Amino acid sequence: MGIYPAPLEKLIRELSRLPGIGQKSATRVALHILKSDKGLAQNLAESLMKVKEEIRFCSRCFNFTDQDTCVICENGNRANGMLCVVEGPGDQLAIEESGVFKGRYHVLHGVLSPLDGVGPEDLKIGALLSRLENEGICEVILATNPTTEGEATASFLSKMLTDKSVRITRIAFGVPMGGDLKYMDSMTLRHALKSRTLLLS
Ligand SMILES: [Zn+2]
Repeated sequence: MGIYPAPLEKLIRELSRLPGIGQKSATRVALHILKSDKGLAQNLAESLMKVKEEIRFCSRCFNFTDQDTCVICENGNRANGMLCVVEGPGDQLAIEESGVFKGRYHVLHGVLSPLDGVGPEDLKIGALLSRLENEGICEVILATNPTTEGEATASFLSKMLTDKSVRITRIAFGVPMGGDLKYMDSMTLRHALKSRTLLLS
């Protein structure tokens, strides 16, 4: 038995199942919904159902979309020939928000993880190969995360693509903006030195 009425307890329980939301945050959100006007709850409920019913994966890049292909794939102003390969839609969004990359994306929907039973056939790798053939791709940027699995996936893809006439690049890793070398771990520093760029020769 909780301290709140059963429906409120249930809402708190459901909210606390969301990533990054603990019991306290869930309670705060639930109480906020409860004291707000009915429109908030109505719109929230409708939005939740709408994303589940209408959002699907882009048939080309596997990003989220509510159409057959996403806005980036449909955008004629994006540079063709450059494909940025990311783990998930969240990574794609982060790169897109940086505003630097103007090419196309390919979302793998995961990384290789033998311990969790995730192999190449579980990722959108076959579709990536088809795109290389069909879209005249000249550069593949491997932008998986600098984790063990992300690195293994990038390494697997680069080996798989060696016989294709395509340039394969890996995003650089190293010291973050505003970072302090004194507090960096040695792995990060090693990567930063390996990924150093030429300023003057
Ligand atoms: Zn797309």
